[in-house]
Amino acid sequence: MNIPDIIIAVDGCSSTGKSTYAKLVASHLGFLYLDSGAMYRGVTLYAMENGLIGKDGKIDLPGLEKVIGSLDLHFRREGGATALWMGERCIEKEIRTMAVSSYVSPVSAIPYVRNFVDDKLHAFAAGGRVIMDGRDIGTTVFPDAQLKIFMTADDQVRARRRFDELREKGQNPSFEEVLANLKERDYIDSHRETSPLTQPADAFVLDNTDMTLHEELVWTLGLLQGRFGILC
Ligand code: C5P
Repeated sequence: MNIPDIIIAVDGCSSTGKSTYAKLVASHLGFLYLDSGAMYRGVTLYAMENGLIGKDGKIDLPGLEKVIGSLDLHFRREGGATALWMGERCIEKEIRTMAVSSYVSPVSAIPYVRNFVDDKLHAFAAGGRVIMDGRDIGTTVFPDAQLKIFMTADDQVRARRRFDELREKGQNPSFEEVLANLKERDYIDSHRETSPLTQPADAFVLDNTDMTLHEELVWTLGLLQGRFGILC
């Protein structure tokens, strides 16, 4: 397969299956997969563990700003996958809890947090051959990405997927709690002032409500062939 060093940007609301899809496409193309949401979750976990988020959800903005520059968050390649580390600690599991999910959108609306994460994402994606998912990848982080995908799916289907995923990981939220969290994050993510979630004008829309993962891959390979003449 002769694939150019392109960047593929994947955006969309919470739990539209972006990471599962992006991981599959990455492994099929031999690309690096980067999960930008993991970075925002990592900052949130750090803030929670260091008393920078009160019980009432209030964020200590000056406190977080003071320490964020020295926060060592990085991706490590593990086999074909990437995992997020904080210093010498792998935090992949801790960042996926409902507690982190409930604070991550307010944290990621802070402009200095976005700058911090954007700088890291650019450094990790240097050289291309990357597929990155998030909320503002095609609009702000990589506005020149050669291929932009915008994913959507029905609310109930999205909540069911997240609910099943959390249960599989041994967590026990109610379905209503998961649905409410998705809707709240979507609202905050698409209404914040700095890089809100919007569909890039030049993105291809992938509505996977009734699609299997395999169908999503076939759809993508068709797109790559049509756009870049790549047969994979
Ligand atoms: O993708 P995931 O659901 O793990 O992202 C967690 C949160 O991180 C999102 O709800 C959103 O608030 C924030 N995020 C963001 N911009 C991105 C990726 C994630 O604001 N590019």
